[in-house]
Amino acid sequence: MAKFEVPVLSEEPARDIPEIQAGVMAHSRPFLAKPEHNKPLGFPDALVDHWQEKALGRMGSLLKRFRSLRVFLDSCVKCGACTDKCHYFLGTGDPKNMPVARQDLLRSVYRRYFTLPGKSFGPFVGANDLTQETLEEWYTYFHQCSQCRRCSVFCPYGIDTAEISMAARDIMDHIGYGQKYCNEIITKVHKIGNNLGLPGPALADTLMGLEEDVHQETGHDVKFPLDVEGVDVLLITPSADFFAEPHVDGLVGYAKVFHQAGVSWTVSSYASEAANFGLFIGSYEQMYKVANRIRKAAYDLKVKRIIFGECGHAWRVAYSFLNTLAGPWDFLDKDYPVPQHIIEFTTDLIQRGGIKLDRSANENMVVTLHDSCNVARGARMGAVPGGQFTLPRDLIKACVPQYVDMHPDTINEKTFCCGGGGGLLTDDLMELRVKGAKPRVEALKQVMTQAGVTHLASLCAICKSQFTKILPYYDIEMDAVVSVHGLVSKAILLG
Ligand code: SF4
Ligand code: SF4
Repeated sequence: MAKFEVPVLSEEPARDIPEIQAGVMAHSRPFLAKPEHNKPLGFPDALVDHWQEKALGRMGSLLKRFRSLRVFLDSCVKCGACTDKCHYFLGTGDPKNMPVARQDLLRSVYRRYFTLPGKSFGPFVGANDLTQETLEEWYTYFHQCSQCRRCSVFCPYGIDTAEISMAARDIMDHIGYGQKYCNEIITKVHKIGNNLGLPGPALADTLMGLEEDVHQETGHDVKFPLDVEGVDVLLITPSADFFAEPHVDGLVGYAKVFHQAGVSWTVSSYASEAANFGLFIGSYEQMYKVANRIRKAAYDLKVKRIIFGECGHAWRVAYSFLNTLAGPWDFLDKDYPVPQHIIEFTTDLIQRGGIKLDRSANENMVVTLHDSCNVARGARMGAVPGGQFTLPRDLIKACVPQYVDMHPDTINEKTFCCGGGGGLLTDDLMELRVKGAKPRVEALKQVMTQAGVTHLASLCAICKSQFTKILPYYDIEMDAVVSVHGLVSKAILLG
C-alpha cells in the first residue's frame, strides 16, 4: 500500500528515540499554492521579485506586532528538552524535525538581520543569510510541524514552536510561496462558506437526507434545520460532519441531543464551517474574516447562543480568539458563554437530567480517547480548569460500558498529535502523516493489546479524517475511529 517504509512500532509508547537520519524527510513538501489560491487571499500570485527584501520586511512587522515571537526567538538556551518530544521527529528520525532545529531555521535569519551580534559576527553566533536554500528549507520543514505545541509543554522557557511555524508560513504567503491545501480551503470558505465548497442547496439536501435516515432508524422526527431564524442555537460545526464517516454520526448525535432537550437550533448555509485555516497559515487577517462570517450568521439568524461541534483547531480559535476577532457578542443571550462546546452542552444536560443515556447500546465497545492537541493545549472547556480533559471523558463514560486511557505520557496536555493537524491533512504529505502518527498509534496499540480497547474516540474533525486514513497502514481498521457524539447518538434515549 505505502510507497515508503511504515515505521515499526515500539511496545513502550513515547520512550523510543529514533536513530538520527539527516535529511531523510527533505523531499517531503506540500504542493505550492497557485495564483487562483493566492489572489483571493490578497497574497502575491507566485514568488515575487526581490523576495528576500519582502520576506525580511514581513518578518520585521511580525516581530513588532507579536512580542512573543521575538521573545521565543531570543530565549532558547539549547537545553535539548524538546528534541525528542515532536511526533514528526519520533516518526522520521530527521533531526530538522526536532523542535529546536525547526525554530533555528527562522531564528538564524532573525539573528542575522535583526540582532547586533548577528549583524556583526554572522555564522559565529548562529546567524545565517536568507538564501534560496533557506527558503526551500522553510517550506519543507515548516510544513512538517502540525503546530500541536507538545514541545512547548516540555520547554523550560515555554517557547512555542507553533507560533514560530505560523510566522514562517505567514512570511512565505506574503512573498507568494504559500501552500496550496490551506489557501485553497480558505478561498472556498470565503466564496461558499465551508472547506468543502458545499453550496447551500447541496447542504439542504444532505440535511434532509439525514432527517429521513434518523426517522427510519428511530421513528422520531429529529430535525436538521438550515437557516432558520429566531431559534436558540446556531450550530457551527466542521463541514466534514455533513457527510464523512465517522463525523456524520457526531452530527446525528448533536441533533438528537437538541431534539431530546427541546432546544431549537439551526445550521447556517453562510457560515457552514467551524474550521478556521487562517490559524494554520498564521494569518490573523484570514482568521478574522472567517470568524466574522460566524458573527454575521448569528446576527442575521437572530439566535440566542452559539455552540461549536467537534473540531480541535476550530475550538481553539473559538475559545481563545473568537471574542477578540468577532466580539462583542452583545446581541446574544447573556446567560450563556460565548462560545460553548457541544460537549459542555451535552454533559451539562446529563448532569441536570435533561437527557438519559443507555450504555448497553454501545455494548462490546471498549473505548479510549485521543485528546486533540488544539483542545488539550490551546483551549479549555467548561468552567472548571482541566475541563477539556475531564468533560469528554465523562461524556464517553456515560455512553459506553468500558473506558480505558492510553499511556499517561500520551494523553491530556502531553497528548500526541494525530499526525495530520496544522494544515498537513493533504495527500501530498501522506508519508509524513503516516510516520508522524507513530507515537499515537503506539499508545493506541498498547491499550488494544493489553486492555482490549476496540475503539478510538475523537473530538476533532482533522483527527478523525487522519486516523481513518492512516490506521490501516498500522493494521487497524478505519472503523475503530468514532466521534464522541457518535457514541452519544447510539446511547441517547429518545422520546
Ligand atoms: S509544535 Fe508539534 S509539530 Fe511543531 S515542532 Fe512542536 S511538537 Fe513538533
Ligand atoms: S526546550 Fe526550549 S530552550 Fe530547550 S532547546 Fe528546546 S526550545 Fe530551546
